[in-house]
Amino acid sequence: MSVYKAEYIWIDGSVPTAKLRCKTKIVKMGEEAPEWGFDGSSTNQAEGHFSDRVLKPVFTCPDPIRGGADILVLCEVYNTDGTPHESNMRAKCAAVAEKYASHDMWFGIEQEYTLFDGIKPLGWPDNGFPAPQGGYYCGVGADEVYGRGIVEIHLEACLDAGLNISGINAEVMPAQWEFQVGPVGPLAVSDELWIARWLLYRIAEDFGVSATLDAKPVKGDWNGAGAHTNFSTAEMRESIDACMAAAHALEPRHELHIENYGADIDERLTGEHETCSYRDFKVGVSDRGASIRVPWQVARDGKGYIEDRRPNANIDPYVVTMLITEGVCAAAEAAK
Ligand code: ADP
Ligand code: MN
Ligand code: MN
Ligand code: MN
Repeated sequence: MSVYKAEYIWIDGSVPTAKLRCKTKIVKMGEEAPEWGFDGSSTNQAEGHFSDRVLKPVFTCPDPIRGGADILVLCEVYNTDGTPHESNMRAKCAAVAEKYASHDMWFGIEQEYTLFDGIKPLGWPDNGFPAPQGGYYCGVGADEVYGRGIVEIHLEACLDAGLNISGINAEVMPAQWEFQVGPVGPLAVSDELWIARWLLYRIAEDFGVSATLDAKPVKGDWNGAGAHTNFSTAEMRESIDACMAAAHALEPRHELHIENYGADIDERLTGEHETCSYRDFKVGVSDRGASIRVPWQVARDGKGYIEDRRPNANIDPYVVTMLITEGVCAAAEAAK
């Protein structure tokens, strides 16, 4: 009997930041990966006395690690009565995406992350610190970047999985890196970002290295890690006025967004290290000290997209794309 391996991946109920969980199911060739279950009492998604939760496949792609006919299966978590589990943000995002589908929202998310060797960033000295920031961003050479071997394998794996990864770069703090996913719709960018994160953890695991999405992995004069969220509606892709209107539509919602843009956001959005303080809301052209940046080529072309620089690396992209879609599209409709 021939079979394939389906790696079921889901988002748990850990607070304040959810984690990925996974387990393998052997499926008969020719059959689809079915709904499955797990012990929710071990993932902060149930009490012990009634612990079964349901895994509902929502996005599948080739498994670039196992290869062959094997697949990755991203799932939503449901209760046994058929309702979405309260930790299931994808179901909530899907409802908002559906409501505003006519705006054709696109998202491109820049995922920053830091590679760790035990308790210190990869390649950092056992005692003390590397030279101060300045030469590491988009650097090359063994004295500038740490972990490129892992980063390259991860990029290749994302492409093999068919994800819309659009680039990678070394970041400002040594051992910190970034990959970008998109631009695609809110659910697609979020599904693919969670799968890309899973691939990163899984690949780094084989090197004894852990990747973290901590927003401020090293205290002090070191950059935090963000997930800049670039977005556009069909209208913004035609008009700079729509881009500016979208930026300003987010102003009255600033606090709501900050509360939902990842744990420890106050440690990252200090006003230093290419951020705007979480206490302020600022829109700027080319300004990396703004909350919302209008890229220079968008100002030049008179159309395009804008960048929300506030989200932390440790966001749930379903929550962030849902909030932006709601805020921007509702305001655009009200202005009509
Ligand atoms: P930065 O200069 O901020 O480092 P990056 O090149 O890392 O910018 O990321 C830019 C992101 O913007 C990419 O993820 C890309 O997919 C996304 N992007 C480009 N055009 C659009 C668009 N029209 N709508 C939404 N996102 C877009
Ligand atoms: Mn970037
Ligand atoms: Mn970056
Ligand atoms: Mn950016």
